[in-house]
Amino acid sequence: MNFRALTSKVLRSHTARTLSGSVALTLFVVQLAVYLPSVYSQYSGFTREQSRNARTLVQVGFNGNRQQSLDFQDNVLDDSLVGLVLLDATGRLLLNKGNTLDFDPAAAEMPARSGWIQPTAWQLQNGAEPAVSAIGFLDRSGLLKAALLKASLLSIFAVLSSLLAALVAMAGAARWYILPMERLIAVLREHRQISDGQVPEPIKVIGGNDLSPLAEEFNCMIEAQRKAARQVKVKQQYLEFAAHHDPLTHLPNRLMFEDTLRRTVQETLESDLRFSIFLVDLDNFKFFNDQYGHLVGDKMVAEVGNRLRTMMRDIDLVARLDGDEFVVIQKEVDESVCAEEVAARIMSVATAPYEYRGFTLKTAVSVGISSFPDDVHVQQDEQMLGEEMVNNAAVALQEAKSNGKNQYRLFNEKMRLRLTARIRLEQDLKMAMQDNQFEVYYQPKINIHTRQCTGAEALVRWRHPVNGFVSPEAFVPVAEETGLIIELGAWILQTACVKTRELQSMGYDGLNVAVNISAVQFTDGNLLPMVSQALESSGLSPELLELEITESAVMHDPEEVISSLHELSEHGMKLAIDDFGTGYSSLAYLKRFPVNTLKIDRAFITDISNDNDDVAIVEAVLGLGKHFNMKVVAEGVEDEEQLNFLKSQGCDIAQGYFISKPLSSEQYTHWLERWPFGVQERAAPEGMLELPAPQDRQVG
Ligand code: C2E
Ligand code: MG
Ligand code: MG
Repeated sequence: MNFRALTSKVLRSHTARTLSGSVALTLFVVQLAVYLPSVYSQYSGFTREQSRNARTLVQVGFNGNRQQSLDFQDNVLDDSLVGLVLLDATGRLLLNKGNTLDFDPAAAEMPARSGWIQPTAWQLQNGAEPAVSAIGFLDRSGLLKAALLKASLLSIFAVLSSLLAALVAMAGAARWYILPMERLIAVLREHRQISDGQVPEPIKVIGGNDLSPLAEEFNCMIEAQRKAARQVKVKQQYLEFAAHHDPLTHLPNRLMFEDTLRRTVQETLESDLRFSIFLVDLDNFKFFNDQYGHLVGDKMVAEVGNRLRTMMRDIDLVARLDGDEFVVIQKEVDESVCAEEVAARIMSVATAPYEYRGFTLKTAVSVGISSFPDDVHVQQDEQMLGEEMVNNAAVALQEAKSNGKNQYRLFNEKMRLRLTARIRLEQDLKMAMQDNQFEVYYQPKINIHTRQCTGAEALVRWRHPVNGFVSPEAFVPVAEETGLIIELGAWILQTACVKTRELQSMGYDGLNVAVNISAVQFTDGNLLPMVSQALESSGLSPELLELEITESAVMHDPEEVISSLHELSEHGMKLAIDDFGTGYSSLAYLKRFPVNTLKIDRAFITDISNDNDDVAIVEAVLGLGKHFNMKVVAEGVEDEEQLNFLKSQGCDIAQGYFISKPLSSEQYTHWLERWPFGVQERAAPEGMLELPAPQDRQVG
């Protein structure tokens, strides 16, 4: 910065101006105070003190005649002595003191001029000659001039030195005040404009000035901001981690997996390499959780996740997708790497025993594998390719699960076809409900002893506009998975209740209807209101409605099911266990189920005439039914021989093609009209739910 700029800057600053002005003025005043007395003394001549000193000196000059006192004519000395020159007899200068401006020591004699007091004016008291040859005194005439000259010189000096001091003060002010101030202002300005979270550098405090507190405050503020910024950063890092990781296993989560998968697809497309994904799912994990508790279940999941992470390379990704589902992306593999070997290793690592608090825990896993690019249609974008890979691996996993679990499956073309068909089925199912493509069929049941019709089982039928009849065994599981079964099930129940109520009004008073209820409807929590609504709107008595629940649905969550079954039973509905003998019924639970009917699966009836094992099973089920006071219905009775055998064994009710195939609503009515043994009478109600009289209710 040049001098002018600095000066103008300093002069613009009130503080700097005041400071340098004060310094200059003070110095000037101090100098005046110091100089003025000397000027004055110059003007006023010797002081008394100086006169006394001079007298002593003169006396010294009297070469040993010290005993002689010199008559100084004190009044002259006191008033007029302004300077003193002392020469010895040889003319040597002994003393030149005071204001002796005109004295020339080279002159042989003291000039006789006015103002000079000649030595002759001084006489020794004894009259002797003084040893000094000349003693001169100046007069006062030149004093004013000399004093003025001195005063001027001193004033100029004072002014100049004050100016210099002012300049120094200005430089100091600039160095310690203006420049830090400017810096502070610049930083503050810069700080005000910063919007991207950057925090400025702290200000260096040089020395102590009145800016220091401000700068320190600013620095504190900056430090606080930096601390806050650091905390925000840590928080952001944590949130970033939490958003992309699973809290239990600390493995990447679904979000990060999807992101990595997309990038892996992209990278692999640009290279000659391949990659594989392995969907790893713990088998029967719900059962594991129920057995050991969720805490141990969590430990197991974390352990499996950790083992998978450890066994894979750093470039691979191991993520946790769901409760017990992991995914592994094995990147950058060449032809030499066999996905099946990796899958086998995954299985052996994941299923190795795990010691936890004295327990040896073990789990099995199923693995579905899909490889890129072999298993995908490459003419798609990265996102869709990734999704296809996951879907394929999921299909392969499903295949492994449905083939008995604890195994791996590589995705193949057949699976893809099944997948496509499955997707299409799902889409068609959604349309079917809107387009009324469903129909309820009724398969009559008879009392084996009287052969009277006791009622029918309602069986849903789907007439697909293109494919024709679709078996419920094919679409009910899909409807269950998609949740459509809730709506469909409610519609079937409503239709079956209305039909049965119609038949009642035609005089078939004792007919009941059995409706299949899926496990999904059971766990949905809305079953009782849904059933009550169907009964109420149709006007059917609850004891004429039987709900069929498969054995596996019952065993899915027995405790939960027991309480639901009790609730339904308390409302008067009958309950049947369907396909009894095919699932894993725990007989211990059976006595706690408020079940009225056991339905022997048709698999045991089909071969009853030839297979002794089936005979034993049927006998056992009948024995159980008798013991627990339950009715037993034999399904799939296809000939008289089977019927006679069941009759001989004391079975109550039969259902099957021998009696009738499932019939449409109209066919069922006709069948009843033509059935030679008639329809059973309605049994007397026992403690059932009170419903309004049928005529008061709307028959849907
Ligand atoms: P399910 O409840 O055990 O139904 C009995 C099945 O056996 C019916 O097959 C019926 O047509 C068939 N069947 C009856 N008698 C004979 C016979 O003598 N021989 C042979 N070979 N088969 C016989 P469908 O109608 O195909 O139903 C199959 C399964 O689909 C049902 O088994 C049931 O689990 C499910 N399902 C059917 N309708 C519904 C429904 O409305 N809701 C639910 N949730 N599931 C249903
Ligand atoms: Mg059934
Ligand atoms: Mg059945």
